[in-house]
Amino acid sequence: METKIVLSELEMPQAWYNIAADLPEPPPPVLHPETGQPLGPADLAPLFPMALIMQLVSPERYIPIPEPVFDIYRLWRPTPLYRAHRLEKVLDTPAKIYYKYEGTSPAGSHKPNTAIAQAYYCQQEGVKRITTETGAGQWGSALSLACNYFGLECKVYMVKVSYHQKPYRRSLMEIWGAQVVASPSEDTNAGRAALKANPNALGSLGLAISEAVEDCVQREDTKYLLGSVLDFVLLHQTIIGQEAMTQMSKTADFPDVVIGCVGGGSNFAGLIFPFLGEKLRGGRSARFVAVEPEACPSMTRGIYAFDYGDTAGMAPIAKMHTLGHTFEPPGIHAGGLRYHGMAPLVSHLYNLGLIEATAVHQTKVFESALTFARSEGIVPAPESAHAIAAAIDEANKAKESGEARTILFNLSGHGHFDLGAYDAYLRGQLEDYAYPEDKVKEALTHLPKV
Ligand SMILES: *Cc1c(COP(=O)(O)O)cnc(C)c1O
Repeated sequence: METKIVLSELEMPQAWYNIAADLPEPPPPVLHPETGQPLGPADLAPLFPMALIMQLVSPERYIPIPEPVFDIYRLWRPTPLYRAHRLEKVLDTPAKIYYKYEGTSPAGSHKPNTAIAQAYYCQQEGVKRITTETGAGQWGSALSLACNYFGLECKVYMVKVSYHQKPYRRSLMEIWGAQVVASPSEDTNAGRAALKANPNALGSLGLAISEAVEDCVQREDTKYLLGSVLDFVLLHQTIIGQEAMTQMSKTADFPDVVIGCVGGGSNFAGLIFPFLGEKLRGGRSARFVAVEPEACPSMTRGIYAFDYGDTAGMAPIAKMHTLGHTFEPPGIHAGGLRYHGMAPLVSHLYNLGLIEATAVHQTKVFESALTFARSEGIVPAPESAHAIAAAIDEANKAKESGEARTILFNLSGHGHFDLGAYDAYLRGQLEDYAYPEDKVKEALTHLPKV
């Protein structure tokens, strides 16, 4: 009975997969936050290294992974793909459940896949210092790790609610040499304005992005890096799906449904894009399901509109599924999923009807996480547990209908830094947040006019 499907280093993909080459139609343009005109490479140059900007506009289906990046990937990649025999048994389902596990990286999630690449390109272009934001602390730790490998300074604006919920994520970033401040902070205009408006603000990813961008554009030696949402981030994550395809080919199965949780959309895209690409090229077909929190449901309840990527309106404007850039999501424990928008590429695919979306309440997420931890052993990140909840739903549907089906989901990270949240759940202190309809309605009145 095979449980763990491993690859050798020689079977690791040598290139990232660029879904732009296979899209039935290109996504809408990204616009300048001040002029409202389509962005060109020169507009992005103050923020990102040129190599990443060029990846945003590349038409090539495959983009080679630079050797120094590949060398670091090899420290924990290829990551394992598991058949969840024990979970299947507990669920008493005829479905076959597979999961790709990204928690084996030093930072404990998929995020180093892009952090390593982004830090490498910065170092190549002579950058000395990086600013960024982090929600749950996963991206901040991944980037701290990456900056440490490449000798870059790193300043992280960490959403305040997570800063207090997850002090050990901060420790981890500091171990790798980064400087961490709670956002909203006193270090930027955006942060000071937010504190003035509400001294008890919990912060949000959107606001932390505003702070990190403001800090970056004030210094010549600094670039701003982002751990999700952008096309090049999704691109770097496709190593996950490419490995998973090779691993699935070593079994007798092919997934009927591929599932990932979505905050900004990168681990979902990383897993599904290579499978979706095959489907778009006329090959084997699967369903694709994005899973988001009921408290921050940008795909299932948001609208598809042009909106700012950040709260202060300094970041580029993109067409995406959004709850409004001023929306401050409730302080759910899956901090990595508290983002008002969605990756423009994922939004585009959703709009074209090529992928599905569903939303789950946080107590159901933790119930699923425990079912998983008590069968498979791995303690999942609360973010990843959204994907588990949807996978369990699919397995239960298979049981009801008596139909066999093969399910593949992304276990994007482990939950070793989320034990506070697990504690709250085990003590019955975790609440569900109703979908904050009025707050979203209000936030949607502030969309940019384009
Ligand atoms: C950050 C994070 C997410 C959400 O981000 P995406 O870009 O949507 O993948 C999901 N899972 C884990 C473990 C994370 O760290």
